Amino acid sequence: MTTKYIFFTGGVVSSVGKGVTAAALGRTLKERGFNVAVQKLDPYINVDPGTMSPYQHGEVFVLDDGAETDLDLGHYERFIDIRASRVSNFTTGQVYAEVISKERRGDYLGGTIQVIPHITNEIKRRVGLVEKTTGADIVLVEIGGTVGDIESQPFLEALRQLRTEVGRENVLFVHVTWLPYIGATSELKTKPTQHSVAALRSMGISPNMIIARSDYPVDADLCEKIALFCDVDKTAVVPMVTSQYLYEIPLLIEKAGMPDLVLKQLGLEAKKKPDWREWEKLVANVKRPKPEVTVALVGKYVELHDAYMSVREALKHAALAAGVEVKIEWVHSADLEKDKNWEQVQKADAILVPGGFGSRGTEGKILAARYARENKIPYLGLCLGMQLMCVEFARHVLGHEDANSSEFDRSTASPVIDLMNDQRSIIDMGGTMRLGLYPCVLKPGTKAAAAYAVEKIDERHRHRWEFNNAYRAEFEKAGMVFSGLSPDGKLVEIAELKDHPYMVGSQFHPEFLSRPNRPHPLFVGLMKAAKEKKAGQA
Ligand code: GLN
Repeated sequence: MTTKYIFFTGGVVSSVGKGVTAAALGRTLKERGFNVAVQKLDPYINVDPGTMSPYQHGEVFVLDDGAETDLDLGHYERFIDIRASRVSNFTTGQVYAEVISKERRGDYLGGTIQVIPHITNEIKRRVGLVEKTTGADIVLVEIGGTVGDIESQPFLEALRQLRTEVGRENVLFVHVTWLPYIGATSELKTKPTQHSVAALRSMGISPNMIIARSDYPVDADLCEKIALFCDVDKTAVVPMVTSQYLYEIPLLIEKAGMPDLVLKQLGLEAKKKPDWREWEKLVANVKRPKPEVTVALVGKYVELHDAYMSVREALKHAALAAGVEVKIEWVHSADLEKDKNWEQVQKADAILVPGGFGSRGTEGKILAARYARENKIPYLGLCLGMQLMCVEFARHVLGHEDANSSEFDRSTASPVIDLMNDQRSIIDMGGTMRLGLYPCVLKPGTKAAAAYAVEKIDERHRHRWEFNNAYRAEFEKAGMVFSGLSPDGKLVEIAELKDHPYMVGSQFHPEFLSRPNRPHPLFVGLMKAAKEKKAGQA
């Protein structure tokens, strides 16, 4: 079939859940038998989010092929249950880098390089790559930011052109806006939506559908008003009230009749009837009251929960599987160094130390790992969290007082975490880590092997430093088990403590492959251990 495109634009304000809405709609289309692919266009000038501060950008989501992408890709993978690739995310920075390198090579034969057509052509080429690499029936494309941003103009122009090139009947523009609520008069306002649609139309794009996001119920009159002022069909204004339950959104979109409307507008017929039984069970399970288990998440960017988006979701998925409700205590690792906020750690049923870069707060994470080891509190270390669990072990069990990762102390006499030789000569920061999917072989009889229940796994990585093999035998003698290794045995991928209910660290990032209905084994292991610990206290 001809590939169909759904373009998502945002109006009024950002952060209204455009990505989640697109992902949830994607799921409803997949349920109708379509092969759905996704793409996120980020109008900022950075080449990728890999070198951006998590405070600014939230989590960097890593794909199988090692692409460092926007966190919306995480929503797409989790909701639609797909594995995206590098073509699924690009930025203005990448577009310009490509065009400028072609210009330097002389590919343009001396022509003047302009935003239209050179930049817009490169944008269109990259949008086209999704269909080429996936053969998708429907490609969902989300444009980051809000209409009216200077950076997004070339993107909107490119998509406008694309609509004519692939045929209007094959393209749908969905505009996601926000209805502010005025407390004094208790009413929702449509004016900002009208303005944002006017801005979109000034770019030559009339939306086919408007999703009106709101924290309050939106009545039919308001939808009619939006339809009238924004020149869309009445049925094509879909109110979408904020839900307390993230994974309920596909069901709400289904209930609002949006997928059928989309198919009608694209001239498509469902290939099969959607089957929501598993998903409904999942949502019912989410809503069911369950005993609470507390996890202290000891990190460096805890003020911004989006920086740990996939970790938080993976904890929620695993909690569901373990039949508990997870409450996350966000603990700033630097506070622990100053002897502050320890009660948050002490009252937790489990401790999780996520990934991170740079030395700030690492000593606090080491203290948290020590506390978990000595008090037999279930612990999961992700990437840096695994490395620091090893540093702590070296310092306090093996007696290497100055043990560290050479990332944080270049002159340590005990670099238990160190650079591999092939990483030493790299100067560039961006895209130079061990990135993407790598195989790992599990050691039978270990906690990791029991959790996964298979012998070989593939997991996503994003790091430069590795466990230093010079210390392997010493660690093993003292009770550390290297339960996951690269197939050639050279790289430590999982470490776990022998005499401990659950102290496990992975060099990879398991959180990226967790799904709501297929929780990640290492997270499930943590939640089960936490549940047992809590039951033991009762
Ligand atoms: N900074 C560490 C490294 O580069 C850990 C990275 C991470 O936690 N993702 O190896």
